[in-house]
This record gives sequence, C-alpha cells and structure tokens, in this order.
Amino acid sequence: EVTAMSELGLIGLAVMGQNFALNVAEKGFPISVYNRSYEKTEACVTRAKKEGLEANLKGFPDLKEFVASLKKPRRVMILVKAGAPVDATISSLMPLLEPGDIIIDGGNEWYENTEARAAKVAEKGLGYLGMGVSGGEEGARNGPSLMPGGTKEGYDAIEKIVTKVAAQVDDGPCVTYVGPGGAGNFVKMVHNGIEYGDMQLISEAYDVLKTVGGLTNDELVEAFNEWNKSELDSFLIEITALILAKKDEDGQPLANKILDKTGMKGTGKWTVQQAAELSVPAPTIEAALDGRFLSGLKDQRVAAAKTFSDLGLKQPTKHEGIDKAALVKEVKQALYASKICSYAQGLNIIKAKSAEKNWGIDMGALSRIWKGGCIIRAVFLTDIYEAYKRNPALENLLVDPEFAKKLVSSEGAWRSVVIKAIANGVAVPGFSASLGYFDTYRRETVPANLVQAQRDFFGSHTYERIDKPGSFHTVWDPRN
Ligand code: NAP
Repeated sequence: EVTAMSELGLIGLAVMGQNFALNVAEKGFPISVYNRSYEKTEACVTRAKKEGLEANLKGFPDLKEFVASLKKPRRVMILVKAGAPVDATISSLMPLLEPGDIIIDGGNEWYENTEARAAKVAEKGLGYLGMGVSGGEEGARNGPSLMPGGTKEGYDAIEKIVTKVAAQVDDGPCVTYVGPGGAGNFVKMVHNGIEYGDMQLISEAYDVLKTVGGLTNDELVEAFNEWNKSELDSFLIEITALILAKKDEDGQPLANKILDKTGMKGTGKWTVQQAAELSVPAPTIEAALDGRFLSGLKDQRVAAAKTFSDLGLKQPTKHEGIDKAALVKEVKQALYASKICSYAQGLNIIKAKSAEKNWGIDMGALSRIWKGGCIIRAVFLTDIYEAYKRNPALENLLVDPEFAKKLVSSEGAWRSVVIKAIANGVAVPGFSASLGYFDTYRRETVPANLVQAQRDFFGSHTYERIDKPGSFHTVWDPRN
C-alpha cells in the first residue's frame, strides 16, 4: 500500500526531469518520479541518494503506484519530449487521475497543443498548465526560470513549489503566472527565439574580432571576459569566454575544431513563423534562424568558396593595420545596440500575441523572471524591467528614453563595425538586420510610397495621400 505523501509527481527523467526533481526534493517538497524506461528512474534515485535527498524523492516503476503516492489534488508534471510523447503520457495518466488534479507540461511545447490538451482534460475536470522551463541542465538543478501559463487556479496549486524551485534574484523568484491558455509556452518559445538572436550576435562579434581584427584566441577570451564586466554581463557572454578558453588535448582552442554547422530543435523557427503570422517585424531573430539554415549548407558553402576563389574572390582576411583595442570597443557597442533591437522584436511578438489572445501578459514581470535562471539571463534585463516599469504600455524598447540614449551613444561604433565587416566580406546579418530595424523604425518616411504606387499600378490596390483624406486610384501608364 502506497501512502499519498508527495507534493509533486514528475514524469520524464532525462536531462531536465532528473535535475528538476532533485531541485524540488532539495527545496523540501516530497516528490515522486516516474519514467517510461525504468533505468532513468533508477539513475535519478541513485543521484538523490548520493546527494542525501532520498527522504524526499521516491522512484516508481509502476505508474499506478506513482499516482497513488501523490497528495490530492495531485500535481503531475511532465518533462518528456514535446509532441506525441506528451499525448502518450497524458493518455496513460488520464484513467488514474480525478477531477481537481492538475497536469503541468514543462516541455518546449507548441502553445496550441497545450490549449488543445487543456480543453480535453478539462472535460474530465482536470487542470492543465503549460510551463516553459529555461536554464538547461544547470538551471533545472539549481533554479530555472519558469514560465507557467494556464488556469490561475492551476498556478495557485503549484505556486508554493515553483516559487521555491525557481532561480532567486534580487527582486524575487524567477517565476510568475504568465497568463491563460498557452501563454507560458508561447513566452518560452519567444525566449528561445531571443536566445537564437543573442547567440547569432555573439558569433558575429567573435567573427569580426577574429577574422577582420585578427585577434588571437587569448585576445578573444580577454575581450569577452572584459565585456562580461560591462552592461553586456550575461550568461551567454560568460560561457563564450569559457568556451574560447577551452583547449583541446593538443593545446589548441577546441572551438576551432568544431564543425560550423548548427543544430536546432524548432523553437526559433516557430518564433519567426509567429512573427510573420502577427505581422511583427523581427529581422534580427530571422537573421539568426537564416544563419542556422546557411550553416547547415556546409558542403555547398565549401563548393561555393572554390567557385568564387577560382574567379579571384578570396575568403575574407584580416583588415591590415587595424587597431585591435579600438575594434574591441566598437564591436562591444555594436553588439549591445544590436541586442537591444533583437529584444525589442521578441518582446513585441509577445505583446502582439497577448493582445490577439487577450492573455494580459505583463511585460515587466516577464523581464523580471528572465533576470535569473534562464539562458538569456543578463544584467540588461534589469534595464528592460525598468523600461516597462516606466511605461507598461511601451510600444517599442527602442524609444524608451534610457534605451534611446544608449542607442544614440552606440550608433557610430555600430555603423563602423557593420561597414568594416561588409567591406572585408564578413557577413554580419544580425548586426545589419538590427541596424536596418533601427534605421527604419526611427525614420519618419520610408519608401513605401513607391511600393503603394506600384501596387496601385498593377493591381488597382489604391493608395492614401499625405495631403488629403480618402482612397485614390490612378491610371499610371500613359499608354493606357
Ligand atoms: P528529451 O530528450 O526531450 O526527452 C526524453 C524523455 O522523453 C525521456 O524521459 C523519454 O523516456 C521520454 N519519452 C520520449 N518518447 C516518449 C514516449 N513516446 N512516451 C513517453 N515518454 C517518452 O528530454 P529533455 O532534454 O530532458 O527535455 C524535456 C523537455 O524539456 C523537452 O520538451 C525539451 O524541449 C525541454 N527543454 C529541454 C532543455 C534542455 O536543455 N535539454 C531546456 C529547456 C527545455 P525514455 O527514457 O523512456 O526514452
């Protein structure tokens, strides 16, 4: 006979699940764990023993007993591969749960899947939350950023656990009730899109310093370490310095031996698709996604390098006589300004979706829960939090008075880096896309007048005028 003593049940004990479970146990909440294949459950229990947490963590080979071990209303969190495995897990759970119980999916799930599942289990009186979990393995173990969405009652039922388990920053735990339906999954998806943007921008900074500036590996490490003490202070800059400092067995930088072909799991692509669906410009995040697609064309790139070098166009090399220290300073500014634009885009995707779906997402609260635990955690998020505190209805981060000043002070260096990179044949699609976004957004007039005229010319789509109201059509072709 199993006694119902656990505050939380967790199904799915791969990287994320095991670490999350240990975190919950460590924070003093009894937890039951289950995995489709029992080895992972055993591995998790062994780890708990090693860490002295066995009193709070119980592993079960049998799903029925696992469910029986949970206090009512039962709270069952799922951390399996997104998509069909989540459906399979829910199907096996459903006959064992009762009205009032709550399922929490912690995976990187497509938000509409969460909404469909929530509706389905609601018929049986069950609550459902889609809760984005960020921070990878380390975050899951020591404090992730958590983005729960679904019913408020569902959130209330897990609040005491998640507020303890989440990363803790100066102004509280990195978790808040994000909003109803699939809001939590949507926000996690865009978080990952922003992460794509950050990673692309950092890789461009590295490329410009290395290829155009000719910085040695040690100089690169020093630059990133310096940046990490500035307004760029962030997890991704910090790990970049550590990555560049890592040597292979032969003493050479390991990063130089990594095949230049990026993997991806889909959240970046979804972010770009959603931006398009919502008509929200997101050129930096799109450039990051395209960067990954282009990286995948390794064989074609190698062949194209030969095609063009046979025609006399060499691979980019160092800009002779460049002042390395000055370049490091400029690239830092370019990276910072580009990052502001990337976050502005990501946040506006969330803002637009929240308006469309009536999710009521609080952008300030969101910036706060990203301050710790997650992959995009950065000092910079405190500034974003402050910007939304100044103006909760802020239309674009670019025009927040403080960010606007930062953009203006970085502008010269930003342009200079883009010009130098392009002049040397080094593509900086993220830096350029951000600069293009900034230069277009701050422009009173754009050449869309001509596009409107063309549309009216060939399709009689009509146009508006700046000097009088109404809708106009012109016969443009003198031959007609
Ligand atoms: P994962 O590799 O995405 O999934 C492995 C887990 O899914 C295992 O427990 C596996 O069980 C289970 N599973 C697969 N197919 C199943 C099925 N048909 N029925 C039941 N269970 C099935 O694990 P993960 O990396 O820990 O990630 C879990 C979730 O968190 C994913 O949605 C992921 O996108 C998200 N996430 C991951 C990270 C990260 O850094 N890894 C960060 C944030 C979010 P078996 O052991 O039996 O195969």
